[in-house]
Amino acid sequence: MEFKERLREQVDIVHVVGEYVRLRRVGKRYSGLCPFHNEKTPSFSVSQEHQYFRCFGCDAKGDVFKFVELIEGLTFFEALKKLADQHGIALPKQSLASDDETRLRAALYEMHEIAANQFRSNLAGSQGSAARQYLAKRGVSEAAVQQFGLGFADGPRRSLLRILETRGFKPEQMEASGLVGQRDDGSFYDRFRNRLMFPIQNESGKVIAFGGRALDPEDKAKYLNSPETKIYRKSNVLYNLHRAKDTAMKLDRIVLVEGYMDAIGASQAGVTEVVASCGTALTVEQIRAMKRHSLNLHLNFDPDAAGAKASERSVKLLLDESMKVRIVELEGGLDPDEYCKQHGAEAYGQRVAGAKTYFYWLADRARTKFNMREPQGRMDAFQSLVPAIQDLSDKLARATYAIDLAGYLGVEPGMVQEHFRKLSNDRVDRTPAAKIDPTRATDRILLPLLVNDEEARAQLVEQLRDLPALKQLITAPIFETLIAMHDAGETISFNTLHERVHPSVQENLAAVVLDSGAGAVTLEDGLACVEALRRAERERLIRELKLQIKSAEREGRINEALDLAHQLSKLNG
Ligand SMILES: [Zn+2]
Repeated sequence: MEFKERLREQVDIVHVVGEYVRLRRVGKRYSGLCPFHNEKTPSFSVSQEHQYFRCFGCDAKGDVFKFVELIEGLTFFEALKKLADQHGIALPKQSLASDDETRLRAALYEMHEIAANQFRSNLAGSQGSAARQYLAKRGVSEAAVQQFGLGFADGPRRSLLRILETRGFKPEQMEASGLVGQRDDGSFYDRFRNRLMFPIQNESGKVIAFGGRALDPEDKAKYLNSPETKIYRKSNVLYNLHRAKDTAMKLDRIVLVEGYMDAIGASQAGVTEVVASCGTALTVEQIRAMKRHSLNLHLNFDPDAAGAKASERSVKLLLDESMKVRIVELEGGLDPDEYCKQHGAEAYGQRVAGAKTYFYWLADRARTKFNMREPQGRMDAFQSLVPAIQDLSDKLARATYAIDLAGYLGVEPGMVQEHFRKLSNDRVDRTPAAKIDPTRATDRILLPLLVNDEEARAQLVEQLRDLPALKQLITAPIFETLIAMHDAGETISFNTLHERVHPSVQENLAAVVLDSGAGAVTLEDGLACVEALRRAERERLIRELKLQIKSAEREGRINEALDLAHQLSKLNG
């Protein structure tokens, strides 16, 4: 039997893929979000029986070797070797005769391993004392130094270069490694000198590049990173992902910070599901790498102007990739590393756990700018968020967020509807906001399901029965008639319902039910929509109660205020 076949028999594709993708068992197969294209509903399947994966969205398919090749960007030989190593199976001699590309990359991995070891021993030695002092001052523990493999590239000598030369690496391999620079005369020099070194590892934990922080304050480049090489593509790599991914999958959450020190600080604080983008603008590839482990992203960028700008751009990309974004806010304008040092691990953990969703975070900022006691002020606050909602590329998400936010800001659903109706009638004032109409989106999701899908109807009717928010809709009579027909056990179809509803809403019914393609919305969408309406209603009640409590207190109606406060605590519980 060929070695490849023997190996394939000993490796389980479900385990291998499961390291990179959250998989769920569905009957005989496993399913998850495809790591090779952007999607919101899983079309990626792994069959244990056939040891095969396949995506019905982008048509990626193959065996376990193919999967490792694609996901890690490896050649076939590298994938084979990686799987054999992982499973403690020795490669036969003849398969070492691999292709040039694989040989070069193997040399680069080896050089990086050697460099990482050298940097580590430099840091422990006498020449590393300034670097050790710096780390101690920044509160990095000895355990963290070990865990993150931190090191020190020593002074202006050719020390790494000499080691690589004595180990027999060829000039073209040196040049390709990015570890050394080349002068005009062709001679080499160490790229990293007098720097604190952060090894950058790929998802399997292999060192593929370095980030170096200058220790001399006079040094012009505070951070110097490896250039791109055959084993390092900047746009694909996140710092610390290989350590973060297990916790990220377990907690179903991933924390994104900016710098190496932030990642180390957060990790020391017990937030080990942390990765860093390391100065480069966040890319779609990096987002997809995180997304494979969790869709819940907690963004904790520096609060300074540059950080805020980076956050804004990143959030847009993250939302477009269907990530659920929360913003971690740290008081005092501190970055994660400083915060952990000043307030301790527990406080930071609480900040991360209590992070608000991006839109609530925006809404809270809007609250401080408008008079929230007046309906118009609340409407204006809502209005100020519309452009951000409009930025979402997913229609359903736009509607859900709009309903949610209206409730959160205490805007009556009816008012939102009225507002959008006016906007769309008023041709002079044609702002982009006219495009969103959250309440009509409710109709578009719920009505087709209720009319066409018997199974969904049975579940949804129970949910909708006592939903006060529904009564605020123009289409409320349709829902009422439908529920009455359902309770009476009558046959429900578009035609029977259309006949029974009041003529004033017949057209609304026809527009949404006949307009929607079959199978366009699922029961899950419907339930999400109900949930959003329910949340909106609750938020609205809470705001109303709070206002009533305030005015009761002001006017000395203490018993009433206590009563209301009791009601409020029940709602909050
Ligand atoms: Zn795919």
